[in-house]
Amino acid sequence: MNGDWEIGTTDQALDRFARAVIELTDGTRISLVDQRALSSITLDKKGESSLPKLGREASDLALDADYLAEVLRRRKVGIKPALMDQSVIAGLGNIYAAEALWEAELDPRASSAKLPKKTLEKLVEAIRLVLSPKKRRPGRYTDTRGVSRFAVYDSEGKICRRCGGTIERIIQAGRSTYFCPDCQLR
Ligand SMILES: [Zn+2]
Repeated sequence: MNGDWEIGTTDQALDRFARAVIELTDGTRISLVDQRALSSITLDKKGESSLPKLGREASDLALDADYLAEVLRRRKVGIKPALMDQSVIAGLGNIYAAEALWEAELDPRASSAKLPKKTLEKLVEAIRLVLSPKKRRPGRYTDTRGVSRFAVYDSEGKICRRCGGTIERIIQAGRSTYFCPDCQLR
C-alpha cells in the first residue's frame, strides 16, 4: 500500500525510512523504503516458496479476454473481489479495480463466471487505461489542482461525471467498493 524497493550503491546515504537492506558484494544495495512500515518480509528456505500463485500482471500485454474468461470460469464471487484476487490478476488493488469497472461500465457485483467475451474485452481495455501513465500523474489521489483524479474511488455521494447518477459505496469481501449504480450494469 505504500513504499518501494530502491536500488542504489552501498556508498550512498541510507534513506531514513529504509526498513530492510540487502547489500551485494559488487556494491549494489537494495533497500525497502517504507515510511509507514506496513511491509513485511518472509524468508523462505532454499527451494521453497511461500509466495501465493500469482495471476498475470495487470500491465502484462498477455492479459486478455481469453485469459480472464479462463481464470474467472469457476469464480463464484462478484467481479470486483475477483479482480483483486492476486491469483486472477497480480497487482490490481482496490482503487484501480473500482476505476477499471467504472471505465468498463460494469457493475462490481456482476457474476465473474458469466461475463460475456465482449464485456471481458472492454474490461481488459479499461484496466490498461486506468493503469496508463497518462492517468497516473503525480499526486496519488488528486491532480495538481486538488481535483480527484478518480471517477468513483472515495467519491460516495458525488455525481457520476458520465451519467449524472450518484456514486455509492458498498462492502465486498471486507473492502469498500465505489461505483455508479446508474451506468455500471450487470
Ligand atoms: Zn454513472
